[in-house]
Amino acid sequence: MKRITIAATLGLGFACVAAGTMMAVAQAPSKLHNSKVTTQYLEPKYEQIYLKLKRRQILEELDALLSPVRLKHEITLSVEEGDESCKGPNSYYSPEEYKLRLCYSWFDFLENEASVEFKRNPGEPFTDLTPGLVPGFTRAEVILGGTVGVTLHEMGHAIFHIQGIPRLGREEDAADMIAGFMMMQFGSSVALTTIKGTYNVWHHFNALDLRNNKSVPSPAAEADVHSLSGQRAVNFLCMAYGGDPATFNQLADALLPPVRKPNCANEYHQADIAFRKTVLPDIDQELMKKVRAMKILRPEDFKL
Ligand SMILES: [Zn+2]
Repeated sequence: MKRITIAATLGLGFACVAAGTMMAVAQAPSKLHNSKVTTQYLEPKYEQIYLKLKRRQILEELDALLSPVRLKHEITLSVEEGDESCKGPNSYYSPEEYKLRLCYSWFDFLENEASVEFKRNPGEPFTDLTPGLVPGFTRAEVILGGTVGVTLHEMGHAIFHIQGIPRLGREEDAADMIAGFMMMQFGSSVALTTIKGTYNVWHHFNALDLRNNKSVPSPAAEADVHSLSGQRAVNFLCMAYGGDPATFNQLADALLPPVRKPNCANEYHQADIAFRKTVLPDIDQELMKKVRAMKILRPEDFKL
């Protein structure tokens, strides 16, 4: 996925023209800031999304989330239109540039595809082949969860790379695991919103793939470096149910195949141990307490 960068300007935003692109750079007003982090918002054709993300200070919030981490290299966080990799709904981390790129295309996709109810014929049930908004979920949950989900997934790639953490397994799965684990660290309300939204996003992609390939996963999806979209949806929900069964029991009963449920506590425990052994040694505990007290989702975020 994508990158984000922040630069200090005496607390005042300024704009400059670079290579034909208006680049707005502003000092992070957040009290929590990682000195290794730079952020940038590149103004795109998606002007409304650009303004919304900038106003919401999504990069500054990601910077704050990273503030307890003793990063072994500088990193740039960027929201941008990007190159070919940003054309589809995407975001990515570029290790050669130490740059985490959040693509505007991803936010456009969340607002206009994944969170939109798919029109069905009268009496037609919602199935694995139905894209769009999952019944019982809200647009806000999908947009917020899909935003947090992609951001934490890319942050996972960045932390693995910068901190030199080995991945005994597929990196894309590991990035999902750390993203799901982090969603669970800010209380049950944040966990519920972000997991539901993330589940909906991967359900949507899975439904599109099945619709385009006669109800089975396409060969391209099966060969991809990512797990199948349907698996990613279930993986996030299982992690959540394993970590907080009281909050996620109802959702798990509705959406998690019974064959998977008994293993979910183990899966959360595995992620917990891995986080403690590989990430936690380079985390400032006092700053971590402040981060966990952050309101990463605010009431106004739900007013869409
Ligand atoms: Zn990834």
